[in-house]
Amino acid sequence: MSLPPFKLLRPRSIEDAVGYLAKHSGDIQIVAGGTDLLPSMKQRLFAPKYLLDIRGIEELQGIRSIPGHGTEIGALVTLTTIEDSEFIRRRYAVLHEAVATIASPILRNMGTIGGNICLDTRCLWYNQSLTWRKSCGFCIKKDGDLCHVAPGGKKCWAAFSADSPAALLCLDAEIEIAGPAGLRRIPVAEFYTNVGDARMKLESNEMLTRVLLPERTAGYRGAYRKLRLRGSIDYPLAGVAAALKKNAQGLIEDARVAITGVNPAPLLVHEARHALAGKQCNELAAAVVGELAARVAKPLTTSALTPEYRREMIRVYAKRAVLSAAQMQ
Ligand SMILES: Cc1cc2nc3c(=O)[nH]c(=O)nc-3n(C[C@H](O)[C@H](O)[C@H](O)COP(=O)(O)OP(=O)(O)OC[C@H]3O[C@@H](n4cnc5c(N)ncnc54)[C@H](O)[C@@H]3O)c2cc1C
Ligand code: SF4
Repeated sequence: MSLPPFKLLRPRSIEDAVGYLAKHSGDIQIVAGGTDLLPSMKQRLFAPKYLLDIRGIEELQGIRSIPGHGTEIGALVTLTTIEDSEFIRRRYAVLHEAVATIASPILRNMGTIGGNICLDTRCLWYNQSLTWRKSCGFCIKKDGDLCHVAPGGKKCWAAFSADSPAALLCLDAEIEIAGPAGLRRIPVAEFYTNVGDARMKLESNEMLTRVLLPERTAGYRGAYRKLRLRGSIDYPLAGVAAALKKNAQGLIEDARVAITGVNPAPLLVHEARHALAGKQCNELAAAVVGELAARVAKPLTTSALTPEYRREMIRVYAKRAVLSAAQMQ
């Protein structure tokens, strides 16, 4: 499959990039590592007239620790750089674990954290060639007016299938967005819509510039567990991130659990925080969190494996992720 024709724009600053986005709004798409966008273009899911290659923007690079404030990660930082960062491993273990499970080493060399956060949602009826989709009469997400997953409904349920955002939710991370009016910040927890065909709150003339990890959650113990078809290179069919802090007595002082791969957005399991607070982390407490996570998960037939199995694995992995995080030194 070949790429559709496009013109490549290569801005050197955030200001120029935002200018191009505003000028060609509706006809332009950002490309970072291209590991997801380019295969999708080959399938004719996107055929923008302009591709905005942001890799020449130096300001989008680098991991910076700002004492007392936290850590900034530029949108262009590759997944391999995060995986190789001893600082991230020690301070933000849950993010380190989640990133290390993404795709394969070669894809992590090219793939960026910005591209992972902005990853398109996925569905068996959507991530297919044009010929395949045409033979099924298309669907709401592209070129059609019905949903094969939930016929009769008007909503797209394509599954959010990136790993790192579940970890970022557990860390109370924020993202920085650049647009014509300047920079704005938004918690990752408010960035996603939970609608498969309009996944995030990003205007067409805006771009993600940085991820901000707060000082408060630095040092939280963390773990990520993931269900996928091919262990060496695959999107999550169910993913669970857990991060927690213990006090001097070994009781849980604060905890977060988030899921991905099963709903149109990555979601925090809000009740997990209250269920674990002040408790000794044992099998029983972790099993309660597993039940809570399974209640938040709403897998449908958007992905391989049955929805029932994927929900069950959310329950199992939530329990395991909590126990694993609690046992970390
Ligand atoms: C075989 C295979 C397996 C994969 N497995 C996984 C997996 O296990 N887990 C996983 O999470 N992902 C997986 N991926 C998807 C992908 O490799 C990663 O999500 C990667 O992090 C995407 O980053 P990128 O820089 O390549 O994004 P791109 O492909 O360049 O872009 C992805 C999307 O983000 C947008 N975008 C990129 N940067 C910005 C920005 N700064 N501001 C606004 N929008 C932006 C693009 O317009 C596009 O819509 C897989 C891909 C393949 C091909
Ligand atoms: S969930 Fe429905 S509308 Fe969305 S991509 Fe799948 S089939 Fe299409």
